Amino acid sequence: MNLQRTETTDNKPSGWNFDNSYSRLPDYLHVRLRPTPVTAPETILFNRSLARQLGLDDQVLAGNQGAALFSGNRLPEGADPLAQAYAGHQFGHFTVLGDGRAHLLGEQITPDGHRFDIQLKGSGRTPFSRNGDGRAALGPMLREYLISEAMEGLGIPTTRSLAVVLSGESVYREVPLPGAILTRVAASHIRVGTFQYLAAYQNREGLRLLTSYTLGRHFPEQAEADNPFLALLQEVIARQASLIARWMLVGFVHGVMNTDNMALCGETIDYGPCAFMDRYDPATVFSSIDHGGRYAYGRQPAIGHWNLSRFAETLLPLLSDNEEQSIELANNCLTNFPELFRQNWLAGMRAKLGLFNAEAEDEVLIQDLLTCLHQAEADYTNTLRDLSLTTPAEEPVFRHPGFVAWQRRWQSRRARQTESIPNSRELMNAHNPALIARNHRVEEALEAADQGDYGPARTLLEVLARPYDLCAEHAAYREPPPASFLPYQTFCGT
Ligand code: AMP
Ligand code: MG
Repeated sequence: MNLQRTETTDNKPSGWNFDNSYSRLPDYLHVRLRPTPVTAPETILFNRSLARQLGLDDQVLAGNQGAALFSGNRLPEGADPLAQAYAGHQFGHFTVLGDGRAHLLGEQITPDGHRFDIQLKGSGRTPFSRNGDGRAALGPMLREYLISEAMEGLGIPTTRSLAVVLSGESVYREVPLPGAILTRVAASHIRVGTFQYLAAYQNREGLRLLTSYTLGRHFPEQAEADNPFLALLQEVIARQASLIARWMLVGFVHGVMNTDNMALCGETIDYGPCAFMDRYDPATVFSSIDHGGRYAYGRQPAIGHWNLSRFAETLLPLLSDNEEQSIELANNCLTNFPELFRQNWLAGMRAKLGLFNAEAEDEVLIQDLLTCLHQAEADYTNTLRDLSLTTPAEEPVFRHPGFVAWQRRWQSRRARQTESIPNSRELMNAHNPALIARNHRVEEALEAADQGDYGPARTLLEVLARPYDLCAEHAAYREPPPASFLPYQTFCGT
């Protein structure tokens, strides 16, 4: 593919500082092409603090210039847009995919030297679009913005959202909907599926190259190991064990854990039919297309493990010169996943219960609490948050006989540690969010936005930016959904 020269179209300098390493990788990993311009771009959300962290001028970009750039109508200085090639197991079935409606503009180098992908989503057709229109509706793009920023607020590794811009055009799903473009910021978009793509074409040289690129970009320490391929596998497994534990601890259901939606850097990526669980139930599924409950809340660790096995398979030709030995090496790493996950999750649950040290019986204590929450159909977030209250909590579960008995066990467990109760309470409040992106609040914000009112989405963003701080003003956002709202489903509207 020929190198396209990118125009300098900024009228005011706005801090772009691109160095596009991915576009320098071989042609088989991407297709260079520009976003398709839209009729009337209008910025409706712009993340000023993220812009500043990226070294961008948020004053300049909040206006028309930002709308032109974040819609793809103009290219920022130094951009070299491309669609990435990748494959993936979608609901267990292998497919060759690629960015069908996204353009990687390039990699912004921040003032403190960090590298971030700047990607437009909903920016037009690409050779990977298959039958899709390359576009996105406002609702799903706003949803990704809201939930990814909620995850950031919770301190969970995630891609970020820089802007949502209306395109001024309709997209046709079942009905015409307002079209929009999201600007996504990610440590990178290298996925398990990127490796699967090269493995599917038996591109061994490509695998070697992508591995060394990935090591250089995200895993400098592992790059120095005796067997960097093995070290990469171990670290990717470790990061996913940590990430999925973080999801489980806050009741997050990703909803579409296909291998193309698992980023090697360990960030949560691709917010489609995701949602936070209200009542505790391991079988919780929100996605209308997840009939078998493959990606249910309680199945996420097992699915993560399955996805990592698909990743390990792509590395087999590189792990050693001997196939049997490679399989043994890979299996040894993969076998660690359940225990790694368990250790991450247990440590997190102990903090949620205000426990500083570890006792052998803790896991039983925790499981008994979860059983209790399940039986009482208790709200997961609120029950855990209110556990630290000194005054009796309002949640009905606090009067449930089984729960009262459990609380006594927990209190005596807590009394056995040397830390004071106020310290324990502080630990709990730092690990039990008061505010999650409740589905009924997200829907309310999306519905208002469809009517041209972006106030509820902006307010929700402010509330979710500090989920561990509870102020009286935000108390209403803690409330579980009204019964009329349930059961809740997300539609994988693209
Ligand atoms: P996702 O479910 O968002 O992970 O997307 C799965 C695949 O479908 C990716 O390759 C997307 O680029 C592609 N895709 C989703 N929606 C569209 C669309 N409207 N037009 C073209 N490609 C799409
Ligand atoms: Mg995807």
